[in-house]
Amino acid sequence: MNNFNPADKIQDLQYFGEFGGVNPSISDSSTYTFLSAKTMFDTFEGNAEGCYLYSRHSSPSNLYLDKAIAAMEGTEAANVSASGMGAITPTLLQLCSQGDHIVSSRTIYGGTYAFLKNFTPKFGIKTSFVDITKLEVVEAAITPNTKVIYCETVSNPLLEVADITGLAKLAIKHNLKLVVDNTFSPLSVAPAKMGADIVIHSLTKYINGSSDTVGGVVCGSREFINSLKDVNSGASMLLGPTMDSLRSASVMKNLRTLHIRMKQHSYNAMYLATKFENDGLKVVYPGLASHPSHQLYASMINPEYGFGGMMTVDVGTIDKANELMELMQDRNLGYLAVSLGFYKTLFSAPGTSTSSEIPLEEQKEMGLTDGLIRFSIGLDNDIERTYQMMKTCMVELGVL
Ligand SMILES: *Cc1c(COP(=O)(O)O)cnc(C)c1O
Repeated sequence: MNNFNPADKIQDLQYFGEFGGVNPSISDSSTYTFLSAKTMFDTFEGNAEGCYLYSRHSSPSNLYLDKAIAAMEGTEAANVSASGMGAITPTLLQLCSQGDHIVSSRTIYGGTYAFLKNFTPKFGIKTSFVDITKLEVVEAAITPNTKVIYCETVSNPLLEVADITGLAKLAIKHNLKLVVDNTFSPLSVAPAKMGADIVIHSLTKYINGSSDTVGGVVCGSREFINSLKDVNSGASMLLGPTMDSLRSASVMKNLRTLHIRMKQHSYNAMYLATKFENDGLKVVYPGLASHPSHQLYASMINPEYGFGGMMTVDVGTIDKANELMELMQDRNLGYLAVSLGFYKTLFSAPGTSTSSEIPLEEQKEMGLTDGLIRFSIGLDNDIERTYQMMKTCMVELGVL
């Protein structure tokens, strides 16, 4: 990973518009003409490179974004989708059939958890949820029917770190596919360079960064991406979670500033995490030496982009958490909202929002406590000023 700089890979890509525009033209069409009927047939058969068929399959605008994100992740290919869930669900349905088994981290995005827990069993696909930080526990859960190990690089919302190199070794040993959701750590971590077979993002978060759309992407081998788009058997083609060209063009423009934003998110989060921990708060942030996987994570990241913008603070009870979030919002320090990666700080109590799909009993077991607030730290210019204002809120409410 040391000489792989994902931001340089994105920067090296030049796309011009139809009239020499500095941004690529947007393909505002759902269907495409063919000069000969034979080419149309070949395209349906998947044998006509560079020909467009129909925009559910691909469009020139989506291919620009595919290419840029594949370059960022260091994979052969990528396929953008209408949402992060629109990337995750076809991937797992493509890899697994009736009777197959998945070993998944138990601390994952609530929607992914609900899909694996409640939805895929309808198709005879079972999932074991495990503590992904313990490789021996992961290996013990593997059965002869297991096809996939699924995890998030940094988990939502507990910020557990997956040892991707270690998991990749297990995947090779047992002939499984390692699928990694890298939504929390774009640019910082390149899972495919550490052995992940497939890397997924919710583009809704950092990569787009402006909280104006949902979007997703699957990155992997050319063969796997083609299989997802196969007109006869591809889960993405057949389920149809296609991103619109107008949107992919706007995500592409935002991607151009991702490296600058990630540095500022990481800088600000590190600043606040350090200060609040010194003040005696229960802070979880992978950049702190007190984080159980700090050393591991430090060895995985590209230090230029830091430890990311996500942190959690446990203020004891849900009532205190709610009071604090409302007060911080009143003082314009951020918004009480789910999602992440916005210029503004966003906070929510995951137990009652983004992770509410996880039963209370299981929330407890995984350490998801009532008073936990998840922060997506914004791009504030003067983070010391923000710190002082947040601290004032905490002192007023007796949290500090
Ligand atoms: C938000 C999120 C998703 C789902 O993405 P959508 O764009 O909302 O469909 C998946 N994984 C993680 C880690 C997320 O934060």
